[in-house]
Amino acid sequence: MNRAGCDIAIVGAGMVGATLALALARDGFEVAVVESRAPAPWRAEDEVDLRVVALAASSIALFERLDVWRAIRAARACAYRRMRVWDALAPGHLDFDSTDEGAHALGYIVENRLIQHVLWQALQADTRIALHCPAKVAATEIEGERRTLQLADGGRIAARLVVAADGADSALRDMLAIGTQDRDYAQRAIVAHVHTERAHEDTAWQRFIPGGTIAFLPLADGRPFAAIPGLQGTWAPARRSSIVWSVPNAEAERLLALDDAAFCNELGAAVDFRLGAITGCSARAAFPLRMKLADDYAAPRFALIGDAAHVVHPLAGQGVNLGLRDVDELCDALLEARDAKRDFAADAVLRRYERRRRSDSAVAAYTFDAIQRIFGSDSRPLAALRGFGLDVVNTIAPLKRFFSGRAAGR
Ligand SMILES: Cc1cc2nc3c(=O)[nH]c(=O)nc-3n(C[C@H](O)[C@H](O)[C@H](O)COP(=O)(O)OP(=O)(O)OC[C@H]3O[C@@H](n4cnc5c(N)ncnc54)[C@H](O)[C@@H]3O)c2cc1C
Repeated sequence: MNRAGCDIAIVGAGMVGATLALALARDGFEVAVVESRAPAPWRAEDEVDLRVVALAASSIALFERLDVWRAIRAARACAYRRMRVWDALAPGHLDFDSTDEGAHALGYIVENRLIQHVLWQALQADTRIALHCPAKVAATEIEGERRTLQLADGGRIAARLVVAADGADSALRDMLAIGTQDRDYAQRAIVAHVHTERAHEDTAWQRFIPGGTIAFLPLADGRPFAAIPGLQGTWAPARRSSIVWSVPNAEAERLLALDDAAFCNELGAAVDFRLGAITGCSARAAFPLRMKLADDYAAPRFALIGDAAHVVHPLAGQGVNLGLRDVDELCDALLEARDAKRDFAADAVLRRYERRRRSDSAVAAYTFDAIQRIFGSDSRPLAALRGFGLDVVNTIAPLKRFFSGRAAGR
């Protein structure tokens, strides 16, 4: 039987698990990564991935420390400098501007596939990381001071700590019998790329509509005016955005069944034609929306991170940002113990990680949950209150700084 030993085994190399593997390897740990399928390669000439994320400043700082941000930024990422939030049923609005923060950008919109591609290349290049892919875990148990992973292909890994980063439907979480608090929003998020009549102005636009939200996230693809003599090589103002349109399930079915022209018309109206007409759209995909919070983030020689620990409503674009904060916090806890020559996978160390991250993620999840309930309601009196609330936050500088700080991961 093939048996491998290491300090830490990570199951799942999505954006969160791969980042953790890299961070731990850079800190001198011997790491094993078990991933069921390698990420699809990213190529500049391919169509922009339908899945994008808004990366907050804290996530970018982590990627910079791990020396992967330069490659991501150079490939294709759009800095968004402003964010405008408004309500379909009331006049208030909320604006964030990076210049108010003294920052170059509020964050970056990046394709999931690009992030995964750059991280995967870095994992492959790191001699402290043993990649097991494609591979799946069949069972796990404690053996003395180690936790073992029995792989479905017969392989076996023994590690001082196992971290599950295997996503919302984590098999490892189930194997450890860790329960979850679940809420099904009975909504789906429709994602697509759309071209708009007006430029997106490096702005993330978000409108609350009865029953859901709609976000336009700017994409970094200003195209050369190749067709206009004398203007070759000049970049056109970017007019392409990635949309996340969250609506009740039945409405999602209806919208997905529309032809492109009808979909573009309805989308334009839903966002109040803020960027003019929608002049074209890509293929569409839809994702069911739910909240899921693990009851425990730690067990003997075991920790949960990323979506395996918490799934939140995407209206604030924080899922992966929360997961990357788990990475920061878990690394801090493990390093502090190792530097003090203590067992880095002892219960006390893992409970410290759990204490720091579980409450933060739960507050975020329930805040987004409350926002989606309050803003999704079509009650007129509530709408008037919402509009008032947006205006209040917009005009009171410390309140506004609080909200933009939370969004940036501070
Ligand atoms: C519509 C939508 C929009 C979103 N927008 C944003 C945004 O703007 N900003 C943001 O921060 N977040 C956003 N999110 C959330 C974000 O996409 C997730 O939080 C993030 O992808 C979770 O990453 P992860 O690495 O924890 O899990 P996953 O991406 O699910 O990765 C899990 C990995 O584990 C592997 N795996 C699974 N099971 C096994 C197994 N048994 N054995 C081995 N490997 C396994 C999988 O192949 C995968 O590679 C959005 C989500 C949705 C649905």
